[in-house]
Amino acid sequence: MTLRAALRGATRHADAWLASLAHRPVRPGLSAAEVLARLDGPFPAAPSDPVAVIDALVEAVGGGLTATGSPRFFGYVVGGTLPAALAADLLAVVWDQNAALASLSPAASAVEQIAGRWVRQALGLPATASVGFTTGTQMAHVTALAAARHRVLAEVGWDVGADGLTGAPPVRVLAGADRHTTVDAALRLLGFGSRGIHTVAGDGRGRMCPDALRATLDTLAATDTPTRTVGARRVPTIVIAQAGEINTGAVDPLGQICALGHAHGAWVHVDGAFGLWAATSGSARRRALVEGAADADSWATDGHKWLNVPYDCGIAIVADRAAHRRAMVAPADYFPPDPGGALDPVDWTPEFSRRARTFAVYAALRSLGQDGLRDLVDRCCELAGHAASRLAGLPGVRVLNATPGPAGHGVVVPLNQVLLRVEAPGGEGDRLTRAVTAAVTAGGDAYLTGTVWQGRAAMRLSVSNWSTTRAEVDLAVDVIAAAVGTARR
Ligand SMILES: *Cc1c(COP(=O)(O)O)cnc(C)c1O
Repeated sequence: MTLRAALRGATRHADAWLASLAHRPVRPGLSAAEVLARLDGPFPAAPSDPVAVIDALVEAVGGGLTATGSPRFFGYVVGGTLPAALAADLLAVVWDQNAALASLSPAASAVEQIAGRWVRQALGLPATASVGFTTGTQMAHVTALAAARHRVLAEVGWDVGADGLTGAPPVRVLAGADRHTTVDAALRLLGFGSRGIHTVAGDGRGRMCPDALRATLDTLAATDTPTRTVGARRVPTIVIAQAGEINTGAVDPLGQICALGHAHGAWVHVDGAFGLWAATSGSARRRALVEGAADADSWATDGHKWLNVPYDCGIAIVADRAAHRRAMVAPADYFPPDPGGALDPVDWTPEFSRRARTFAVYAALRSLGQDGLRDLVDRCCELAGHAASRLAGLPGVRVLNATPGPAGHGVVVPLNQVLLRVEAPGGEGDRLTRAVTAAVTAGGDAYLTGTVWQGRAAMRLSVSNWSTTRAEVDLAVDVIAAAVGTARR
C-alpha cells in the first residue's frame, strides 16, 4: 500500500498547489542554487520510504516553483492547464502507456487519431494531412522540416534517407528576419546549418515582406546553374513562414508566401506555435490573419500554449503524408502489425518510446468543444486588447504592437501578445523598461518577461491562460503603472 499512500500524499500536495494559485506570488521564491542547496546531497546508499521522499521533495522544491498555471502569469507564451486536460494527463502518467505502437497501446493510438483530426479541423488544415505529437514546436519543426528535406531532395533525385546529406544537392532555406530561434535550431539539427539560411526582410511589425521574399527567390533563382543540381533544373527550396511572432503576435501574409514559394517549387512550412489558433476565432479580423495557412505544406504548433494542455505537447502537421512517414518511420522487426491497420504514433515523430500526451489533447478539445475553443482564443485576444488600450494611455509608455482601434477607441493588437516599452530620452528607455519588468515580476502579483524588439528593450504581456479574467489583467496593468511611476521618479 506504499504506492497508494505516496499517491495520496501527491494528491494532497497537488490540491494545495492548485488552491494556492489564486493568491500565491507568481514568481518563484527561491533560485535554482537555493533549491539545490536545500535538496542536494550524496546519492543515498540505502532506500527511503516513498511517502517520505515525496514529502521531502515537496518541502524542498515548493519555493522554487513558478506559478505558470496562475491567471496572473503573463510571461513568454505559456498556457495554463484546462481541468480536463490536467486530469487526463495525470491518468496518462498513472496508466503509463508507451504510445509508440497501436498494438502496445490501442487506446493511445485511437485517441491520437481523434485528437489529430480535431486539431486539423480546428486549425482549418487539410483533412488528409498527417499529424505527429511531439514535445513542443521545436521538435514539431524538426519533424515537419525533415519531411520537407526528404521531399525537396527526392524531387531532384536524391534519397536523403538512404544517402544522407553528404554529397547531396544543396537545399536552399528562406525564413523571415523575425523568425523564432527554434527554426534555426531545427535547421541545425537537420544538417542545414544556420549560416545557409537566407533571411527575408520583415516589415517592422514582425511580418515577412512578400516583396522581399519575391526578390530573394528571384535573385537566388538567377544564380542557379544546372551543375548545382542533380538531374533537375531547380534548387530544392524550403520557405519558412510564421503565424504569431513571439513578441508582437504578428502573422506573416501566409497566402502570398505560399503562392510565391510554390511558384518557385518550394516547400512552405509555417511556424504557428500559438498564432495558428487564430483560425478558431469568432472574429473575422483575426481569422483573416491566418487566411491561406492551409495552402502551406507543413505546420508546427503547440498544445501547451494556447490549447492549455499541460507541458509538454507540440504538434507537427504535414500535407504530404508519405514524405512525413518516410522521414520519421523507424521500422523494427519485432513490431507486431496492428490487425486493424491502426496508426502507429512512432511513425510520425522523432521519438521511439513516448508518453501518451494526446489523452490531454483529446480531453482539452472535448471539454471545450468548438465553442469553448473559440471563446478561449477570443477572450485571450480581447483581454490583450484591453491591456494594450490601458497601457497605451499611461504617460511614457508605448505599446509597440498596437494600431488605433475602431472609431478611435483604444488600440488593437494582432492577437494575445502586448509588447510595450517605457519611453525616455537616450538609453534611459532601455534601463527603465528593464527596471519595470524586473520590479513587476519581483513583486509577485504578476509575471511578465522582458525582450528585445528591434534592438531596444521591451516587455511583453501574453494572455494565454483559460483562467485569466479582466480582473487579473487589470491588476497586471495597475502593477505596471505603479512600477513605471516608481522607476521614473
Ligand atoms: C513558443 C514558440 C516556439 C517554440 O515552441 P516550444 O513548444 O517551446 O518548442 C516556436 N515558435 C514560436 C513562434 C513560438 O512562439
